Parts: sequence; C-alpha cells; structure tokens
Amino acid sequence: MPVSDLKPIDSDPTLPAQADVVVIGAGIVGASTAYYLARKGLRVALLDKGQVGAEQSSRNWGWCRQQNRDEREIPLVIKSLATWDRLAAEIGADAGFRKTGLSFVSDVAADIALWDDWNRMASQYGVPSRTLSAREAQAMTPGCDTKWLGGTTCTTDGSAEPGLATTLIAEAARSHGATIHQECAARGIETSGGRVSGVVTERGVIRTQAVVCAGGAWTSRFCARLGIDLPQANVRGTAFRTSAAPGIIKTPLYTPQFTIRPRLDGSYTVSLNGRGRLEITPRGIKYTRYFLPLLRLRFRGLRFRIGRSFFEGPEALGRWSDDAVSPFERTRVLDPWPDPAIVKEGIEALRAAYPALRDLQVTQAWAGAIDSMPDAIPVISAVGKLPGLVISTGYSGHGFGIGPAAGELTAQLVTGDTPIVDPSPYRYTRLFDGTGGEAPKLF
Ligand SMILES: Cc1cc2nc3c(=O)[nH]c(=O)nc-3n(C[C@H](O)[C@H](O)[C@H](O)COP(=O)(O)OP(=O)(O)OC[C@H]3O[C@@H](n4cnc5c(N)ncnc54)[C@H](O)[C@@H]3O)c2cc1C
Repeated sequence: MPVSDLKPIDSDPTLPAQADVVVIGAGIVGASTAYYLARKGLRVALLDKGQVGAEQSSRNWGWCRQQNRDEREIPLVIKSLATWDRLAAEIGADAGFRKTGLSFVSDVAADIALWDDWNRMASQYGVPSRTLSAREAQAMTPGCDTKWLGGTTCTTDGSAEPGLATTLIAEAARSHGATIHQECAARGIETSGGRVSGVVTERGVIRTQAVVCAGGAWTSRFCARLGIDLPQANVRGTAFRTSAAPGIIKTPLYTPQFTIRPRLDGSYTVSLNGRGRLEITPRGIKYTRYFLPLLRLRFRGLRFRIGRSFFEGPEALGRWSDDAVSPFERTRVLDPWPDPAIVKEGIEALRAAYPALRDLQVTQAWAGAIDSMPDAIPVISAVGKLPGLVISTGYSGHGFGIGPAAGELTAQLVTGDTPIVDPSPYRYTRLFDGTGGEAPKLF
C-alpha cells in the first residue's frame, strides 16, 4: 500500500533539451543533490520514474540519528544533523525535523556493551551520545512495564517527517531554478568520446555532461546496462502507523521488541529492527558472494522467499533499449507488500510493553525496498568507467537521516568543490579491490 501522507508536487511542463546536470531519482538523496547544485546556479533537471519521494524516502521510520552508525558514516551524519537543524529556516518550510534526542534501551546485556563501545569510539568525533544505566533507561521510558538493563541516548539526534521532507527539498531545489520531471524514467545514458553526453528519458534526450544516478533500489539495474557492476541487494522492510495515541512516548525509541517514533500528527510509526524479507532474485544470486559476511551477521532477522521480483522490478534480469518502454516505466513506484507477521508482532509487543497503549490500532502498514551494500555503507562516487557519472546510492537503511548531507557531498563530487567530508570511504572501487572493510555489527 502506498504511504498515504506523501506530499505531492507538480512537475514542470517542459523537459529541457539541455542541462548542466541531470539527477536520476528524486528520493531524498537526489532531491538534496539537486538542491545543492541549483543553489550554485547550475541548470539541473531532476527526474523520477514515478513521484518525488514515493519509494524509500517516504516509507522510512523518519529517524535522523548519529548513534550506532558505522564509524565511516559519522563525519557525514554529523553534517547532516546540522543541516536538518537549520533546514526549515534555510528552505522556508518545516519538514518536521525535531531535535528531540533519540534513545536505545535493552534488556540484553550484550546490546549495552556494544553501545557502550560505540559511545567511546564516537566521543572522539564529538557525538554527545552516552550510555544509560538501568535506572536511567527506565526513567527514559515512563509508562513502560519492561525492565531495562540499560541503554544509550544522544541529545542531538531526532526525527523528521518522511512524507514531507523530500518534496520540500525538491521544491527548494526548484526555487533555485531546478526543473522537476515525474513519470519521466531515465532509460539510458548517451556517451560521446567515452564520457557522458546525454540522458535518454521516456520523453526525449537531455543533453548534459554530468549525471547523478540516485536511483535507490534501481541503481544496480540501471548501471548494469552501462556495463557498470554494482553489487546491491534489496531487503524488504515493513513499518506501520498507529491511530492517534496518548503522547506517552515523546522521542524515537529503539527496544529489542519494537522501534517507535512519535509523528507530528499524534500517531506513531512502529517497526521491528533488523527484520526483513530477502527475495531470491537473479541479481541477488549474481552478487551473493559479496553479501556473505553481511548475511552471516543479519541472517536471523531475515526471511527468504522467491516472489515476483525474480521476474520484474529492480532485481530481475532482462534487456531494454533506449527507444522502448523500460523496466523503470513498468514499475512507476516500487510498492512491496508489508509483512503481516511483522505488523502483528510489532503492535502486540508495543501494547504489552505500554499498558496505556493497549487500545492502539494499526491504521496503515507499508513496506519499502532497502537498497543495501555489502558493507552497509553507501557508494557516493564517480566511476572511472564512465566520466561524467556520479553514483549516490546504497544507503543500506540509513539514508533518510544522512540524506541532506549526502546530497551536498554528491553535488560537490559533480562540481569538484571541496567536499564537506572526506568522500573516500564511499568510493565505488572499494567494492572490488578488497579495501572496503567489514559490515558493521550495529544496524
Ligand atoms: C521501512 C524502512 C525504514 C527506514 N527507516 C529509516 C530511518 O529511520 N532513518 C534513515 O535514515 N533511513 C531509513 N530508511 C532508509 C531510507 O529510507 C533510505 O536510505 C533513503 O530514503 C534512500 O533515499 P534515496 O534517495 O537513495 O532512494 P529512494 O528514496 O528509494 O529514491 C530513489 C528514486 O529513484 C527513482 N528512480 C529509480 N530509477 C529511476 C530511473 N531509471 N529513472 C527515473 N527515476 C528512477 C525511484 O522512482 C525513486 O523515487 C528506511 C527504509 C525503509 C524501507
């Protein structure tokens, strides 16, 4: 079921014949990239095969967190939290970001030991997260019957509204001159002299020397046709929203039994951490060897099956040509079915933990395809094989919070400006030359 609170946006009437940069994919990463490029005065065309923000970027929990991230993402996410904090003032619209703080609590001793180690590591970057004693964790969760052994909290983390954020950032990009084209799939890239010379869309060609591919779950399939290998796997994550609820839980909260975020409309977004469905697909089989270490770490939370995505969608095989309908037009919005077992388990766990929430109902459930990389950190990188192309993808379930700064970094890789952080951890080549490092233990 599509997410019901996604703010719509109009498309521009005319596809430009020429642009300085074409951004493929209008999720939070593509929209933020377009915003930063347009702010520099570049002519930017932002394309989406469906609607702005309609895939992962409106389907996530809305968490904007530094806590418990892979160390390689910390400098970028610190920048992103600072951007979220000033975003409303900067773009003149409220994407729902609230710096409420965000906490993890647990009744499992190993969790707390892991978080404590992380806090020690992150303190060198100045992240103000700290380990909670059992008493502090209990005090953080008034109304909760579960007895916690401890937790961790960070005052500068928070959350934003996924239904609003991407549209508002895209509108801000347009206010600086970007044009927006929905139901306008990119079918391919034209080259001249070995570098990018245009983007072929379903409505015609846009001449350009620079392309950003921020296609989320579809990036690997799009790149494959360009002869660019990108090991990426899509995990189906499920979430749901509740009826309006007593405001007992005031900040985003992780527990081993469920995760929860209070929404601006007085309801909650709820999910289960580390749980998802992995469909067996031709592209998945091709890249299995890259994902074995990550699969070993996350195996217990995954269910496997063969479904329609074996034959259609981002992980299927099959060719297309520039002058015929492409797979991107056949699936305007990737809208996987939510897993009913996760919804049932989540609402029951929440009701059991918080007696005052026992009458809470599920009002909408949805799923999203989480585009994951073998080491669970994104690729934000030029690709040697095709000068003029920058890939920004593989946010591995963490891309909403980091999205604004990831867009800024992506824009800087296009323009050659000094990057806000060292981009080398996100280089494309790490996937193949053995320099990428391990997948993180934390989610
Ligand atoms: C259930 C769930 C919970 C999550 N919770 C969180 C969270 O709490 N915090 C967090 O930080 N992250 C979270 N995430 C992850 C986060 O949502 C993503 O990492 C982030 O939204 C990725 O943004 P994106 O712009 O890269 O991709 P997307 O939002 O998926 O956008 C990609 C866009 O590209 C378009 N596209 C693809 N191919 C083409 C083409 N050929 N032509 C034109 N358009 C194309 C698609 O239509 C799509 O709109 C969650 C994800 C899910 C599914």
